[in-house]
Amino acid sequence: MFDSKRRTIVVVGAQWGDEGKGKLVDVIAERADWVVRYQGGANAGHTVHIGERSFVLHQIPSGILHPGVRCAIGNGVVLDPDTLFDEIDELIQDGVDVEGRLYVSDRSHLVLPYHKMVDGESSASKVIGTTGRGIGPAYEDKVARRGVRVVDLRHPARLAEIVEQAVDHANAQLTRFGSAKRADAGETLALLERLAPRLLPLAEDVGLAIHRAQRSGAAVLLEGAQGSLLDIDHGTYPFVTSSNTTSGGAAIGAGIAPTAIDAVLGVVKAYTTRVGNGPLPTEFEEPLHSQVRALGNEFGATTGRARRCGWFDGVVVRYAARINGLTGLAVTKLDVLDTLDELLVCTGYDVKGEVFTEFPGDLTALDGVRPVYERFPGWKRSTADAREMTDLPNEARAYLSRIEELVEAPIAYVSVGTRRDQIIGLE
Ligand code: GDP
Repeated sequence: MFDSKRRTIVVVGAQWGDEGKGKLVDVIAERADWVVRYQGGANAGHTVHIGERSFVLHQIPSGILHPGVRCAIGNGVVLDPDTLFDEIDELIQDGVDVEGRLYVSDRSHLVLPYHKMVDGESSASKVIGTTGRGIGPAYEDKVARRGVRVVDLRHPARLAEIVEQAVDHANAQLTRFGSAKRADAGETLALLERLAPRLLPLAEDVGLAIHRAQRSGAAVLLEGAQGSLLDIDHGTYPFVTSSNTTSGGAAIGAGIAPTAIDAVLGVVKAYTTRVGNGPLPTEFEEPLHSQVRALGNEFGATTGRARRCGWFDGVVVRYAARINGLTGLAVTKLDVLDTLDELLVCTGYDVKGEVFTEFPGDLTALDGVRPVYERFPGWKRSTADAREMTDLPNEARAYLSRIEELVEAPIAYVSVGTRRDQIIGLE
């Protein structure tokens, strides 16, 4: 974790998201001075269990649950102000002190009602299987240079111009989709006028604030959302999210230099899951599929959608290790596999008799793919109480050690249950 050399750490998901980053991030956040989200929006759903209480946070870094930790939402995030204030209000109700510890980048773009409308009515969003929260359309507006940024709330006349232009664009899209819904610039501006007095006091030059904190020796955690295979550039395009989830995105989306990052921790499940459409070469067949889904409680934190599950895919995680420059791995949910007789690990893809060990950019290369598997005997006993590697059954250690070798990154942590103390590798 943090030591004298590693002061700024990025945590990324190294599969398709939902790797259990929430718990890892939370455990690291407790030891951090700053926790920063750098991409995504309210489509991320971290579940954090503290004692008997559980919190689902969509936008605010889970570091907020630890007194004294400063939390920031970076410029790379598209911010849903309505949801943000719901989250803040809920935290306050739960007795969490948010005041003066939460910052929002003045450069971050806002997700507004018309983005959600466009997302909900677009058939393309349905094909990709988006969460319908307007994230994609907000990033589209950002790149097309018609987005509304937090800073714009300081300038009402200019804000009105931007919103009118963006609403016109949204309505043109809605017309094209054959939808009867229409966005209204006046209503949007009224909403922003209502939100501004709460949002502007949180606005900050987040990159500068982190830079200053780093100079004073602060421990900084940059928290990724979703997973590497959902990265807009490096993921299974077009079945991806609209931002750079990988560690390169951490520098851009927090507003710091790539050279200011000391370590990158990749979180992976001991098996594989993904939500929505797109390739998942190691997907289970029934009845194993339903069995593992139930054992791992693989239903989305934000949407409740059932996740697709499969064997650990070494090709995917090795790729993620390379793209992110992973300096360590955190393997989660090992306990979910406790009762299985046999475990499979994918070491390559057999496509028409030729075996590939690098993940392809051209997804048609995965048509008719047959994963090449290595088989491991199950350990058939509970790992829930293991706190050291040596507490794990030999079979589990053999399984993990093969993963480490395949992925070419050392395992730093192994999580064996939902509770925060159920983790191997904590100092
Ligand atoms: P995230 O977005 O990557 O944090 O993933 P989720 O919020 O969907 O979290 C995954 C779920 O898995 C949460 O309900 C966690 O409590 C749970 N979880 C995390 N680590 C473990 C683990 O080691 N074992 C088990 N059984 N559950 C875990």
